[in-house]
Amino acid sequence: MTEDSLSDAPIGSSAAKRSKSRAAFARALELMPGGVNSPARAFGGVGGEPIFIDRADGAYLFDIDGNRYIDYIGSWGPMILGHRHPRVEEAVRSALSRGTSYGAPTEAENRLAERIIEAVPSMEMVRLVNSGTEATMSALRLARGITGREMIVKFAGNYHGHVDSLLVAAGSSAATLAVPNSPGVPSGVVRDTLIVDYNRLDALAAVFDEHGPRIAAVILEPVVGNMGCVPPQAGFLEDVRRVTRDHGALLIFDEVMTGFRVARGGAQSLFGIEPDITTLGKIVGGGFPIGAYGGRADRMRHVLPAGKVFQAGTLSGNPIATAAGIATLEGLRDDPPYERLERASARLAEGLVAAARDAALPACVNRVGSMLTLFFQQGPVTDWPSSERSDTRRYAEFFWGMIDEGVYLPCSQFEALFVSDRHSSEDIDRTLDAARRVCARIG
Ligand SMILES: *Cc1c(COP(=O)(O)O)cnc(C)c1O
Repeated sequence: MTEDSLSDAPIGSSAAKRSKSRAAFARALELMPGGVNSPARAFGGVGGEPIFIDRADGAYLFDIDGNRYIDYIGSWGPMILGHRHPRVEEAVRSALSRGTSYGAPTEAENRLAERIIEAVPSMEMVRLVNSGTEATMSALRLARGITGREMIVKFAGNYHGHVDSLLVAAGSSAATLAVPNSPGVPSGVVRDTLIVDYNRLDALAAVFDEHGPRIAAVILEPVVGNMGCVPPQAGFLEDVRRVTRDHGALLIFDEVMTGFRVARGGAQSLFGIEPDITTLGKIVGGGFPIGAYGGRADRMRHVLPAGKVFQAGTLSGNPIATAAGIATLEGLRDDPPYERLERASARLAEGLVAAARDAALPACVNRVGSMLTLFFQQGPVTDWPSSERSDTRRYAEFFWGMIDEGVYLPCSQFEALFVSDRHSSEDIDRTLDAARRVCARIG
């Protein structure tokens, strides 16, 4: 399909024009739980039925009914260079012609590791895995293995994948004691997880006062994307760094979303904080399943077979995925998009919040680089309790209005949207025109 015929496809859709998606979803409901292979895709946060995608190109998604959308999901983060970047596509094609998996070392794994290490200096050594979840799960095991301690501290509203010990909610009585937030997670597994509110040093300090010598690690999103975009307040990351160091606990930055997104070196380079262990995913796979974790070499040498902390993977370092990851990270190195993304995203964020406020809708926006969230509330949003106060019904109306206008936003108030390097100035204009129309209608 040529560029010309792609751009001929109409932007926008309407419920009546999504009949094939409706039929596909009806079938999917009989085949997969909830009709999907990952819950974020089911549109539960906005009601209604998901849109089935046929293909993507640049900044656009095309659904199976032939509608075109400006895509602000980017596969939930990975597609920072846009869909079908020629360099990535070529790398994948070339890798494909040499076989799809060997279960033996390749030079490509060295090269991807080099690209990660040169961009994120706190990672002197890395281990490649297959997803962000695997990376955080392995990072926790490593932290516990190194320190010989068992407790983990996490922050409410931060998501680290579907790791048992991190699928927790704050218990009702003792604020910091976690309870499972999914059936199937044993209470024994979360007994060693403590949970505190983000951006709250006092709460973290209190936890360390009580449990300090038993805490192996603190894990956090250095810019949160998973309760909507919530940046760390000035000094917060410094405080967490100091408290963990003082107590001999390791600091894990979960940069699965922020790595190579908010800056090439991740949030740690943006804020100048050096964590002990970093987890990566999403962008480092360039649209294929890859995760990574790493840190100082002496610490990483605790991992099998250099050390004793067990961690393995049949498809880890898969040659196709690795090729896409290398091409993406080299694309980001050779032609850094971050200033372009900053300009486009700032204009988008300011325009969205203005569109809402002009329609007398209470709204605020949080943004770091090309990840941002428009919250339907006055704000400020600094942690989960404040994020949770958003008007999710309003968000759902806004979401569906934007879908009808051909703008594909996160299907939940509590997710960040992502701008890619392929979003043109006209795409942003068109998005803001749509937002003004939709807000005027629902306001
Ligand atoms: C997406 C995400 C994960 C989980 O990654 P998967 O590849 O979905 O397992 C973990 N941590 C953060 C911060 C994420 O955004």
